[in-house]
Amino acid sequence: MQSETRNPKSEIAHKLGYASPADLILHLPLRYEDETRITPLRDARLGDTVQVEGVVVHSEVQNRPRRQLVAEMVDSADDQARLHFRLLHFYPSQVALLKPGTRVRLRGEIRPGFFGAEMVHPQFRVVREGAPLPDRLTPVYPAVAALSQYALRKAVAAALAEADLDDPLPAPAGFPSFSEALRELHQPPPDADLAALEARDTPAWRRLKYDELLAQQLSLRLAARQRQTLRAAPLPDDGGLSGRLLAPLPFALTAAQQRALNEIRRDLAQPLPMNRLLQGDVGSGKTLVAALAVLPALAAGHQAAVMAPTEILAEQLYLKFHEWLTPLDIEVAWLTAALKGKAKQATLADIADGRARIAVGTHALFQNDVVFHDLAVVVVDEQHRFGVAQRLALREKGAFHPSPPGGGAGGEGSKALTPHLLMMSATPIPRSLAMSYYADLDVSVIDELPPGRTPITTRTISANRRDEVIARLRDYCLSGAQAYWVCPLVEESEKLQLRAAEESHAELVALLPELNIGLVHGRMKSDAKAAVMTAFKAGELHLLVATTVIEVGVDVPNAALMVIEHAERYGLAQLHQLRGRVGRGTRESSCVLLYENALSDTARQRLKIIHDNNDGFAIARADLQLRGPGEFLGARQSGQQLLRFADPTADADLLELARNGADELLERHPERVKRHLARWLPRGLDLFRA
Ligand code: ADP
Ligand code: MG
Repeated sequence: MQSETRNPKSEIAHKLGYASPADLILHLPLRYEDETRITPLRDARLGDTVQVEGVVVHSEVQNRPRRQLVAEMVDSADDQARLHFRLLHFYPSQVALLKPGTRVRLRGEIRPGFFGAEMVHPQFRVVREGAPLPDRLTPVYPAVAALSQYALRKAVAAALAEADLDDPLPAPAGFPSFSEALRELHQPPPDADLAALEARDTPAWRRLKYDELLAQQLSLRLAARQRQTLRAAPLPDDGGLSGRLLAPLPFALTAAQQRALNEIRRDLAQPLPMNRLLQGDVGSGKTLVAALAVLPALAAGHQAAVMAPTEILAEQLYLKFHEWLTPLDIEVAWLTAALKGKAKQATLADIADGRARIAVGTHALFQNDVVFHDLAVVVVDEQHRFGVAQRLALREKGAFHPSPPGGGAGGEGSKALTPHLLMMSATPIPRSLAMSYYADLDVSVIDELPPGRTPITTRTISANRRDEVIARLRDYCLSGAQAYWVCPLVEESEKLQLRAAEESHAELVALLPELNIGLVHGRMKSDAKAAVMTAFKAGELHLLVATTVIEVGVDVPNAALMVIEHAERYGLAQLHQLRGRVGRGTRESSCVLLYENALSDTARQRLKIIHDNNDGFAIARADLQLRGPGEFLGARQSGQQLLRFADPTADADLLELARNGADELLERHPERVKRHLARWLPRGLDLFRA
């Protein structure tokens, strides 16, 4: 057979980012145009968008004031009614087409013009007398450059005609069939409720959203089942290590910490890999729970890894783990990207031969040169700060570097073991999102703060009163307390961000000569950063000027005042995280949000939310409404759009339906499930496994 010539349909599909022309059936219109009727010219009022029909009586190309094709037509039913129209962009072929005597249909807005009513740049088509009108509304599709609506409509219509539009899976009662729904959306009848269609709120839309959510839920179930085929080392007890860790601490676990820990321990005792998210507001004590969670692995002679998104946070974690585990004769290694040369080689060797029982670090922990001897538990702190792509990469590394073949202890089959995974986050993922984006994720919540915390008082103060704030800061620090000064966020450029930090620092040093003032920012070398943090922790600095590098994890109980400049530039979750750096000791704590005067309404609203709420969950709910789900899922980093039509929050009822139906459909119709998934997720299911 002769090789096929280029197929315009697949070319169009490709241009739009689809893998195959069959995917065009789900390329749904943005809006519609009504070409099903002709409005007599005398009925068309100024401002109306209408379709009119008539015969061209005059046309010419003018060059002034700009090049344009100017024409006039007369309504064929009423020769008193005339309309001028102008084309601003046109081809020579169109000039030839629009000569006097040609019958045209024009669609556009009637506007007042120099010669009376006119249409500027209408859509037009040349027609025969009595040519039938379409009996359906005309779809307007999302398009890309160099792709005409005309070509797109033809390609979609052809895809619809060729596709198998049956229902592989039964839809809930009362929903239209898939083919009815698609026809309704691509070619609605003239009396359709356009407002509801364009708001994507009709039975047809709901059917498609349901199908999409169902595909997502099915793929999540499948991923979950696949995970259930994985094996992990069962870790039933910690040999008394947790008692030894807790004994010297000046406090006991809160009830919520204990509950979360019990849930984690139950998972660890199973031969299946744990997949658990530990949620707890800023300062709720997740680190200690994590330290206790790795003990069963260490007691059984395996290794654990603890990963944090930033160097500062990794170091803080390291210090905590080191403090708590060294007395138990457990060696803790610290690994970050900044570690180089001999020191790095030594650490890698410790990890590879199992001398280091636990490794704490940034994502450097999962680079290729890191080989664990026998890794059984992985903890990921502040997991939402890792992008979907990074989390996928971790999973794809296949069981986080199983022991190298032939080497290491563990014996037969140990290679096939997957580590238990504990993720931690202070940014609560609303239930609807967790349900719709994570496969079989178990969630533990620490819903109380340790006792004796003083609540943080938050004040919003205009930047006009900055001098006053600085004077108060001086008295405050001289009284023996410590404070943070958080610089304005400059999203666009790291360089500008750095400059803002340096300027704030220089200014405060000049204004407050009696204070010791440190500076920490993201571009600093990690040992310089560490030195500043250590000095601050030791009380050698009164004031720490910082960028958002201190957003998470930093724990200095004596620091009880935070000033945030240009607070209006920060996101809500970010402000809450930052503010969580204070209120960690017994001192009365406060957070001052300095704002610029020309605040927009949303900015004002956001600062009010942060001012009124101390509860991260309430703030997260408000944040979700203001900023959408991407922030919660780390999708911002990956730029991936996970759902095309449905919104798990707004369509929570459909999500619930899909979720409830998924298991039974998998049991009863495994083959048809595959067809449903092929229709909806042609590019693979991987995204949902992150
Ligand atoms: P986060 O959940 O934000 O990661 P951390 O783990 O950093 O919080 O804990 C915040 C502070 O609370 C730390 O100084 C930690 O030692 C302390 N802490 C943890 N658990 C308790 C407890 N049960 N009682 C008192 N203080 C605790
Ligand atoms: Mg933490």
